[in-house]
Amino acid sequence: MKTKKEKKKDISLKQAAINNIYAVKLLWRASRKSVIHMGLSEFFGHMTWMFFSVFFIRYIADAIQNDTPFMTIFTYITAVAAVMLFLSLYNSYAANIVRPLEDVKVYSRLYSEIYKKAENVELSCYEDSGFYDKYTMAVDGASEKITETVRLIFAIISALCAGMVTYIAMFQIDKKLILFVLSPIVGNFIFGNIRNKLSFRFYKEITPFTRRTEYVNRLMYLSDYAKEMRLSNIYNLLEDTYNKAVDNNVATARKYRVKNTASGFGQYFLSYPVIFEGICLYGMYSALVVKTLDLSQMAVLTSMMGLASWALINTANNLMTCSRNGMFLHNLRSFMEHTETIPENGDGIIPAPKITSIEFRNVSFEYKPDSPVIKNLSFKLSDGGGKSSIALVGHNGAGKTTIVKLLFRLYDPTGGEILLNGINIKEYNLRAYRNLFAAAFQDFKIFAGSVRENVLMGRKGGDEVVLSALKRACVAEKIESLPGGADAVLTKEFDEDGQVLSGGEFQKIVVARAFANPAPIKVFDEPSSALDPIAEYELFESILEESKENFMFFISHRLSSVKNADEVIMLENGEIIERGTHTELLKLNQKYADMFQKQARNYQPETFENEVAV
Ligand code: ADP
Repeated sequence: MKTKKEKKKDISLKQAAINNIYAVKLLWRASRKSVIHMGLSEFFGHMTWMFFSVFFIRYIADAIQNDTPFMTIFTYITAVAAVMLFLSLYNSYAANIVRPLEDVKVYSRLYSEIYKKAENVELSCYEDSGFYDKYTMAVDGASEKITETVRLIFAIISALCAGMVTYIAMFQIDKKLILFVLSPIVGNFIFGNIRNKLSFRFYKEITPFTRRTEYVNRLMYLSDYAKEMRLSNIYNLLEDTYNKAVDNNVATARKYRVKNTASGFGQYFLSYPVIFEGICLYGMYSALVVKTLDLSQMAVLTSMMGLASWALINTANNLMTCSRNGMFLHNLRSFMEHTETIPENGDGIIPAPKITSIEFRNVSFEYKPDSPVIKNLSFKLSDGGGKSSIALVGHNGAGKTTIVKLLFRLYDPTGGEILLNGINIKEYNLRAYRNLFAAAFQDFKIFAGSVRENVLMGRKGGDEVVLSALKRACVAEKIESLPGGADAVLTKEFDEDGQVLSGGEFQKIVVARAFANPAPIKVFDEPSSALDPIAEYELFESILEESKENFMFFISHRLSSVKNADEVIMLENGEIIERGTHTELLKLNQKYADMFQKQARNYQPETFENEVAV
């Protein structure tokens, strides 16, 4: 755990510099063209200004003083104008033709890298608010910050080159002028740095609260929440959360305002008035009082002073912005470089096509330290042992879904091991391992797409596969009655004529997904929670039919539906309290029998009488 002090610690300038180099690498990977044109534009821009401020003015002043013939001056000016014309055309091409196109490419390539990473990190990251904050900060304006940072790096390098030439030229005129460089350095590097740190700290402090306001914003427009919102007082609660988050952000802004104002003033005053007024006064004094400068030198000096101070101030500002972006980029980098404990693209053994056994051996698990959710759990399914289907039952919170998550390797056990065909599942190629499963969850999600797409979920499959799956899920009749049948679009997200089905019908489509998937292990986690008892009975008939050819795990709160499982495991607080076949557990006459009895009274009194008599 990080201490409060560590959390507050800002990242160092060195780290900011490393993060800036990281931005260049990222942009180079996303679009070399963008980097090259950005570099050239900045370089040409700075060199042009430097040329005019230092050489052009000086040439003209000297030419006038030395009575150079007009045609010579005219030729010189025309040649310069031709070069300028070429550079202007190039700049316009880079800014209006190259940049807009490359920016779109950079955006899409960068975010595709970020989302690929997000998809690859383990599920627990999404439940860790610290990680989630980092992710939010990384995603927020990442593309713009990276592009800006790289542009600024080129601007700094170009300005340093231009500034150096100018300072050398100024130094040749009067050595003391160099002293004026100190003021913007102090202004920008000291006060500017303080401002950057303050702004980063401020942003970091408000992020968790901004996430709350964004959460409320999202709920206000997502249709999924509209009904609950209208039928309850949740709006008041959300408004309260929103207001508290806004109040917090206002209080944080207040906390920083004095320090921000003081450092802002220091930066501005030392950067602008001191150098501009100072050099002007000094130049006037040298030209008019001590007469160490003539008027043409004074003119050249004024123009060089403009460039020199601008180059220095701009460089200092750009350095500060780069250092601030470096701090933001730190989140992106640490997010992108996060080492996954269960990388989704993890390589390993490809599982054998025939599954012979699945075993939980002394498995323990905790989401948070010292809060065990699964305790020393052991069971085995094997095709030879006559146990190919297991039903997990128990009250809410007993640990049933957690077992399924462990089975899918969304989390790794904190103790013991899970074996497939006798090999620890950590040894397998994760994607190939996950492909062994076809699942239907109770907290299912329907995607905005056709019924067919929702059943096949990205796999290929003909009409027979889709229709047979829908039939087995007892929803084929309903789908066939829709305009377009299996091609009917679900949800109104993108299509006004999209179909909105009942919760139970949507759930059956999700079950059809598991049927259509030829994977050898089927997992049904409360697949009937939205169904009425008759629909549930029919669905379980189909599911049990499926279990004849597949390994099957299923979780159900309705005990009448688990009676044909090869083994029923009853859990309480993450431990097995009873196990056996349905009949054996009824005979045991303990908690399972008690639960079954209560449910049977509610649903099928006569069935229960028959069952307990077994
Ligand atoms: P069941 O499926 O039997 O209802 P779960 O496996 O979902 O139970 O949950 C078992 C226990 O683990 C519960 O106490 C639940 O609060 C806790 N739990 C589930 N998911 C998480 C999580 N992501 N983080 C922390 N605790 C969790």
